[in-house]
Amino acid sequence: GPEPGMGPRLDYPRALQILTEGGTHMVCTGRTHTDRVCRFKWLCYSSEAEEFVFFHGNASVMLPNLGARRFQPALLDLSTVEDHNTQYFNFVELPTSALRFMPKPVFVPDVALIANRFNPDNLMHVFHDDLLPIFYTLRQFPGLAREARLFFMEGWGEGSHFDLYRLLSPKPPLLRAQLKALGRLLCFSQAFVGLSKVTTWYQYGFVQPQGPKANILVSGHEIRQFTRFMTEKLNVSHAGRPLAEEYILVFSRTHNRLILNEAELLLALAQEFQMKTVTVSLEEHAFADIVRLVSNASMLVSMHGAQLVTALFLPRGAAVVELFPYAINPDHYTPYKTLATLPGMDLQYVAWRNLLAENTVTHPERPWDQGGIAHLDRAEQARIRQSREVPRHLCCRNPEWLFRIYQDTRVDIPSLLQAIRRVVKGRPGPQKQKWAVGLFPGKVREARCQAAVQGASEARLTVSWQMPWNLRFLEVREVRYEVWLQEQGESTYVPYVLALQNHTFTESIKPFTTYLVWVRCIFNRTLPGPFADVLVCTT
Ligand code: UDP
Repeated sequence: GPEPGMGPRLDYPRALQILTEGGTHMVCTGRTHTDRVCRFKWLCYSSEAEEFVFFHGNASVMLPNLGARRFQPALLDLSTVEDHNTQYFNFVELPTSALRFMPKPVFVPDVALIANRFNPDNLMHVFHDDLLPIFYTLRQFPGLAREARLFFMEGWGEGSHFDLYRLLSPKPPLLRAQLKALGRLLCFSQAFVGLSKVTTWYQYGFVQPQGPKANILVSGHEIRQFTRFMTEKLNVSHAGRPLAEEYILVFSRTHNRLILNEAELLLALAQEFQMKTVTVSLEEHAFADIVRLVSNASMLVSMHGAQLVTALFLPRGAAVVELFPYAINPDHYTPYKTLATLPGMDLQYVAWRNLLAENTVTHPERPWDQGGIAHLDRAEQARIRQSREVPRHLCCRNPEWLFRIYQDTRVDIPSLLQAIRRVVKGRPGPQKQKWAVGLFPGKVREARCQAAVQGASEARLTVSWQMPWNLRFLEVREVRYEVWLQEQGESTYVPYVLALQNHTFTESIKPFTTYLVWVRCIFNRTLPGPFADVLVCTT
């Protein structure tokens, strides 16, 4: 029967009957395996075969029904890392009649969200690949956030940050290894499989060198809704701090990629910005304390590395200063820059790079995964030591990259302060000013044109329109209208930016010619609305 501690009891005979007669039911969203999330009823999992099972019965539905394309390459990505060939989801098919010869099903009464964590020991991966996507996948389907139980199928143990995963849902998550103990054939009365990738902003370089995702769909607003949730769950109080207690937070690593002159750095920052400095590390602080410290900091200074994902928790207006070891080009490794500069994050981002070979300490003797190069042939070792910049490369085992990224650094204070000052003018930190929410204009209304011909070679075109209707509910600093004029059949157009709601064009308007006219409204120079339906105007 149902397992103790697994939530609401289930009517076992009835569940068994529904499964044996009806079989599995699946309906998915998403057009391709990389953007698919599927909803199942009566999906089963054989913990002996370590495979999911789709039972075909008289109520079975499989949408999309891909045929053999289900294996080209898979039904869906189980983690948020796009199209990673170790993270695919699929199932084996059986007729329900096979149930007679199989272990007695154990039903999982909870609504399940089934997914893979990508790298649960690395804090950047934890937040970017797992926590944020799980948070928003749970909010994509009714009821999930309140009642779902997470099932992590990647096969890892809890990992170093399991407490964070526990915060996302009321029931503790289960790991693949724990499923065996629950039964040989587990059947989920209701399960969602896969994660929304809508919040991810970075690709790690498996098929092309790492960089921001091509089509980022998340803004600081959604990120902060998530961090607010996490902050509350961590019992970190929201109470702001008095202005007198502004501080700069230096996030240090204690095992590798060290800042060798941390004391000097702290002193210099304190002096330059007339602020207290505080240091923090993952090793020495509880995560809730880190969140408390970050969420009230004026500036976060850290070596490049996963701990910088805590910039998620910075207040608007704060500065992020990312330090890069010698021979590492900051432009090639931008997960934290991309985060800090997402629209609406409202953070100031600074990259600093050690350009002085004498200020770096290398570790050629270490194991390869901590940047050691002793295992390489001598010529290759010599080449790497002499190189002044790591060329772009793919993830994840490039020895030159690992050698350089695990260097320790003595930070050259004058060049760092200069880099910060180029971006941070005045006092860093949460600003008094209200951050404007950027709302876009609607379409202009009632666009019309009127033509007049004067003689054989001159003509004029008067275009008029009404403001978008949402403008009257908004306070907008500057309202402008953009008009594009295109002679029919031509591939180029002439754009005009105008302040009024009508304009007469005379320049280069020809008689007896048809013009296509597009009009849109722009708020505050940066917020263009949609074009109204094209006007066809003949002079
Ligand atoms: N880490 C740490 N202190 C250290 C080195 C690493 O807390 O001295 C953490 C780091 O923040 C990350 C994990 O250990 O969460 C793995 O670190 P790694 O160097 O492999 O990855 P990176 O930080 O470069 O993403």
